[in-house]
Amino acid sequence: MRIAITGGKGGTGKSTVATALAVELAKKKKILLIDADVDCPNDHIILSIKRKKEQAIYQSIPKFNHKKCIKCGKCAQVCRANAILSIKEKYPIFVSDLCIGCNACSIICPVGAISRTKKQIGTIYSGKGHDINLVTGEMVIGYEEASPIVNAEKNFASKKEQDYDFIIIDTGAGTHCNVIAALLGCDLALAVTEPTPLGAYDLELILELTKMLKIPAKVILNRSNVGDKNLIKKIVKKYKTKIIAEIPYKKEILEAFSRGKPIEDESINKIANFIEKLK
Ligand code: SF4
Ligand code: SF4
Repeated sequence: MRIAITGGKGGTGKSTVATALAVELAKKKKILLIDADVDCPNDHIILSIKRKKEQAIYQSIPKFNHKKCIKCGKCAQVCRANAILSIKEKYPIFVSDLCIGCNACSIICPVGAISRTKKQIGTIYSGKGHDINLVTGEMVIGYEEASPIVNAEKNFASKKEQDYDFIIIDTGAGTHCNVIAALLGCDLALAVTEPTPLGAYDLELILELTKMLKIPAKVILNRSNVGDKNLIKKIVKKYKTKIIAEIPYKKEILEAFSRGKPIEDESINKIANFIEKLK
């Protein structure tokens, strides 16, 4: 069973919840934790897990042959990522960091001046600790498109998924393609939010997204004793879901977090119990 820990907003405590939940569930179940926040993966840091490099992730990119190029500019016109600049009567200028590897430029080129090569866009790592197996994807700095890395790490992890009771996927923040890539195929999404106007706004976005993807979603309210819970309750009611646990803002949790340790709290036990009953 695949469970996504997600949230429309960064900094709500997704990774804190994902790691703590994985540790709690691993006391009785076989757990695979996938850190799909590939822009800034930190589950291995929270869990003090040393990672081992598994494989590099590559993307196909164009290679321009100036001897064949007739400077027509068609490749720049077709590139929706604006990765090719065309100046009249000059060779096209390629900005590889913007390229999303769609291949459109090679197809459109009338004289076959564009062949393909590849560049590394990310790395997949694995690790083990707290009885959890961890898979992490990490995007190369400066690269823009995170979803191919999320797809590659899910693909890598899928080879062993049958060995686990639960696969916990810690998604990136927001509702962009990389979050959609992480959510696809999940049986349940747990949206972590906080009782603030921004938390409520972003919760609505993520619940709208999970509704579109037809993934059942429940809510975890972090820092529940700071702010206005009614803001969240209104959104929860609108989307006919429920808050399955409230994590208070308290000293012990902050201390665990500042020591780089997974948090232990009865609210995490409550989430783990909820999940165990699903299987
Ligand atoms: S492969 Fe696609 S994104 Fe990359 S330069 Fe060509 S058209 Fe642009
Ligand atoms: S489409 Fe081909 S020929 Fe035209 S500018 Fe691009 S590389 Fe050169």
